[in-house]
This record gives sequence, C-alpha cells and structure tokens, in this order.
Amino acid sequence: MFVDSHCHLSSPELVGRIPEIREAMRAAKVDQALCICTTLDEFERVHQLAVANDGFWCSAGVHPDEEDSREPTVEGLVALTRLDKVVAIGETGLDYYRLAGRDVSEMEWQRERFRVHIRAARASGRPLVIHTRSASADTLRLIQEEEGGEAGGVFHCFTETADVARAALDLGFHISFSGILTFKNASDLREVAAFVPLDRCLIETDSPYLAPMPFRGKVNTPANVPWVARQLADIKSVSVEDVASATSSNFERLFLRSVPRS
Ligand SMILES: [Zn+2]
Ligand SMILES: [Zn+2]
Repeated sequence: MFVDSHCHLSSPELVGRIPEIREAMRAAKVDQALCICTTLDEFERVHQLAVANDGFWCSAGVHPDEEDSREPTVEGLVALTRLDKVVAIGETGLDYYRLAGRDVSEMEWQRERFRVHIRAARASGRPLVIHTRSASADTLRLIQEEEGGEAGGVFHCFTETADVARAALDLGFHISFSGILTFKNASDLREVAAFVPLDRCLIETDSPYLAPMPFRGKVNTPANVPWVARQLADIKSVSVEDVASATSSNFERLFLRSVPRS
C-alpha cells in the first residue's frame, strides 16, 4: 500500500536489523522502499539490500556532504544503473548548510559533482534523487543548465518554500515529504504541501533520521512512512488510502518505468 521513497537502510543503525524492519513494514503495509546510496564505497551494500529483498530498490550516487569521498564519473554511474534493481541516480544536489567557514564560491567541487550526476541521469534515463539545503537557487540553476528536467526525479525531504516547489514542479520534478511534515513547528511546510498537487507528491522516511511524530528523536524505519501519509491526507482533506495510492503510483511511474514487469 505505502512506498518509502527514501531511506538509508545500509546505515549502521539499521543494517543489522533488516528482518525485523521488514516485519514491521509488512505490519504497517509498507511494501516498497528505495534504498539510497551516499558514496561509491557504500554502493555495494545498498545494492545487496535491494537485490536480496523483494520490494527494495536502490540508487547510485555520492551525497553532496560526502566531501572526501571518491568522485563519480558519468560513465561509472551509468554503468551502475545497468545493474539489477538500480532505479535512480543520487542522492545528489547541493548543500551549503555546513560551509565550515567557506564562501559559496569555494563549493565548486559540489556543483561539478552535481553536474556529473545530472549528466548520468540523462545518459541512463534514470531519475534524479535531489538533496538541496540552503542552496535552492543554485540547485535549480544547475538543473536548468544541464537540462536535468529531461531525466526528472524528486526533490527529497522537501523543506523549501512554495516558490522553490513551484520551480521544481515546472522543471518536471516530484516533491517528497518526510516526517518533518508532522513536526509541530512545520506549519510553513504544511502550507507548501497543500499547494503541491497530489499527483506529484512522494512520501519518505529518510530513515534512520527524522522520525515522524510521535516518534520524533528516535531511530526511524520505513515502517513509519504511514505517519507522513496520514499528515499529508489531513492537509489535503483526502483519505489516507488516497494518499497511499497516489504516492505509490507516482513512485512507480517515476522510478520503475524502466523496470521490466514480471
Ligand atoms: Zn538528503
Ligand atoms: Zn538521504
């Protein structure tokens, strides 16, 4: 019924608990999850999770916060997308939140890495999983310059303004909401969610981070994604079943379009 469009199941908090997590997912009617890759060294572990578990998929990419990580190439990323169950490029994007005393002009390495991911997404026909923090203008500009709209994808864990959401939608992207949507102080974000059409919304946990209310501060798992769905249903005055079916079919349309049907 539900799909968690973004989780980090290879993280140390979760990787040893997969059978228990899958059991909790079954009980919560969460039948698919996209396992996100953050470094090339992590890829093998993320990929194994997807290959070994029904309903799990994975991405290939290097997170903008992983500064000292091995740099990906367009050809290298495209080659990874040819493997079974690799359905997305990312997570990638820009993060100017932790500049560590630097100026944005010194973050060219991050922008270059993001360009590489966009080119790989276009070359492979796989959608982008985009992370943007304190960097929305540059994120949108680079997508435009590299014609990333051709690949499409999702702005994950969305916390930006309605204007940024509108620009992302205009470029053909989806918007994914996390447990932040349930936080008491997130009324601005709930207004943004009210504006994003349901046929462009996804839901995610970003596990092990960002557990939704009432589990805020605890270790998160994909079994908690229905809490995000319930909040979104509330905002849009529709049933949780409607949110589940819309976000799940959006996920399948976006990420599983190139997966052969069995
Ligand atoms: Zn992220
Ligand atoms: Zn993430």
